[in-house]
Amino acid sequence: MNAKNGATAPTGSACLEKVLGRLDKVKSAGSGRWKACCPAHNDRAPSLSIREAADGKVLVHCWAGCETRDILAAIGLELRDLFPGDKPARRGPSRAAITHERTVYQIGLAQQQMGNRLSPEDQARFELAKQRLGVSDAETK
Ligand SMILES: [Zn+2]
Repeated sequence: MNAKNGATAPTGSACLEKVLGRLDKVKSAGSGRWKACCPAHNDRAPSLSIREAADGKVLVHCWAGCETRDILAAIGLELRDLFPGDKPARRGPSRAAITHERTVYQIGLAQQQMGNRLSPEDQARFELAKQRLGVSDAETK
């Protein structure tokens, strides 16, 4: 059983919870943003900003100028604890992901060209693939 104080429990990725759970005076500072006391210097007013990026990565910044790794060391974490565990940090989708999106897109397109209507689910997935591939509507007509 986890008897945490439910009122201030943050919701977010495992990374985020790991970080916030070790900080003092954690306060929400808007959507996906928190403030807390910096563990790496003698911080009275919360000067540490914590932000969760869209990919689940956690960003911490001390306005007093502490290094991220010092902040993490003070709470027993490492830089890699800020990154979602299962994915290596990389920019852009992998080649396999692009191939997959292209396949989804081509199947959807072929269905439409044959005059078949896609189910709402398939349509949504098709639109997503289109978006991910950066295909504009003009090209599908
Ligand atoms: Zn600091």
